Amino acid sequence: MSTVSTEAAPLTAIGHFINGNEVAIQGGEFGDVFNPATGHRSARVALADEETTRTAITAAAAALPGWAGTPALRRARVMFRFRDLLDRHAADLARIISSEHGKLHDDALGEVTRGLEVVEFACGIPQVLKGEFSENVGTGIDSWSLRQPVGICAGITPFNFPAMVPMWMFPVAIACGNTFVLKPSEKDPSAPMYLARLLSEAGLPDGVFNVINGAKAAVDTLLTDPRVGAASFVGSTPVAEYIYTTAGAHGKRVQALGGAKNHMLVMPDADMEQAARALMGAAFGSAGERCMAISAAVAVGDAGDRLIETLAPMVRELKVGPAGSDGAEMGPLVTREHLEKVRAYVKLGVDEGADLVVDGRNVEVPGHPQGFYLGACLFDQVKPGMRIHNEEIFGPVLVVLRASDFDEALRLVNEHEFGNGAAIFTVDGRTARRFENGVQAGMVGINVPIPVPMAFHSFGGWKRSLFGPLHMHGPDGVRFYTRLKTVTARWPDRAPAKAEYTMPTMK
Ligand code: NAD
Repeated sequence: MSTVSTEAAPLTAIGHFINGNEVAIQGGEFGDVFNPATGHRSARVALADEETTRTAITAAAAALPGWAGTPALRRARVMFRFRDLLDRHAADLARIISSEHGKLHDDALGEVTRGLEVVEFACGIPQVLKGEFSENVGTGIDSWSLRQPVGICAGITPFNFPAMVPMWMFPVAIACGNTFVLKPSEKDPSAPMYLARLLSEAGLPDGVFNVINGAKAAVDTLLTDPRVGAASFVGSTPVAEYIYTTAGAHGKRVQALGGAKNHMLVMPDADMEQAARALMGAAFGSAGERCMAISAAVAVGDAGDRLIETLAPMVRELKVGPAGSDGAEMGPLVTREHLEKVRAYVKLGVDEGADLVVDGRNVEVPGHPQGFYLGACLFDQVKPGMRIHNEEIFGPVLVVLRASDFDEALRLVNEHEFGNGAAIFTVDGRTARRFENGVQAGMVGINVPIPVPMAFHSFGGWKRSLFGPLHMHGPDGVRFYTRLKTVTARWPDRAPAKAEYTMPTMK
């Protein structure tokens, strides 16, 4: 397979997708989009101002009554068609993802599949929206609860899953009868634009799904415009907190998923080969740019030396290269700026006194001297309090801490600021049960390093990895994108003899 490259192509300008049409932009601000494999600029992306963003909200507002009033079954049928188109175009979409994000082709295909599974969940929306009914809550009185759309929903998404994370949001929101304005990452905007085209082709009415490319100005407009009813966010913790407080202050419901530092406990009884292989994929897959990456391993008791002995050669041998190249196991980082940030963390770890067992900073990828590559890095003897443990690095850097026993290891995980995912490797069911019961994290793996919930469950973390009560997609997604209405009804023959002034009860 050849490598993905857009070097020779003329620079395209990526605009927006509003009211069923691609909107080309001539003037205004633009950002640069890069091919991380080559380090070359591949496109320019328009950065929407307030006025353009409001145009998209207006389109979503105009489409809302018709779409909310469309029977759920018909809405689901659009999702069925969208699902088929996604499946048919998965390889193209994966290539687009790789060309702007850098992840390997198969990994990008996996991302598309995990998004497609949320679409499949949304295909069953008539069943999910059925509601509840109680006959005779009082004599001759019935009561029922139903879920109605929230209205216009906004989605603000990160660079690391340019197709999957938007698909955590909009399939459920749209199937529930809402209209949607997506503001994807300005670093890799082409995949969301492709999704918008597929939705149109699937028969989604104009204005139901809109994409606004841009940065802070677009986001702030979405967070403050009174017509927007709900905001879903996925990204870093400082921005998540800002989204939560700003959208909340403007009366919107919010779910804001933030950063992570996911730990994996390796118990002394674990199969080290199994644990090490699991750590390799979990720490270095997608160059560590996953919110569910394991970026910290906690070796318990005498597991430490055995783990490092097994792991270090694997880390040294990990092959770095562009998406689609033969044998590549890890691609580049997303931008040069991010590469420099991750490299600075490696230097910081050394300065902090951690033991850099494998240093990937000198990696060279033949034919791609300008690519944003970093080899896999492994630190041992990392201590709580070091910044390389406290902070999210979001790159191919695995830190290993050591704990004398299970309690110390669990405390170390629970005292961390983030609580997205956590995993344990052990053959002892009692230890595993104590872990899943006591760990302060939203998603827990037992001998599973990256416990990402399936589409029919919900995805979300605890502590400063999630602001707001509801997780994403699955049942919580439906709760988030619908408002509950409870109706109480009776059909009396005649008016009561007198007015009632006390609380009605069943006494
Ligand atoms: P980011 O926070 O920089 O950007 C996310 C989105 O917010 C983008 O659309 C961006 O344009 C916008 N944004 C950035 N700064 C803003 C500001 N000041 N005001 C308003 N909007 C702003 O995140 P990123 O670098 O694109 O993605 C990586 C981060 O996302 C990591 O921290 C990772 O852990 C997190 N993430 C979390 C999850 C999860 O499920 N918890 C999933 C994926 C990624």
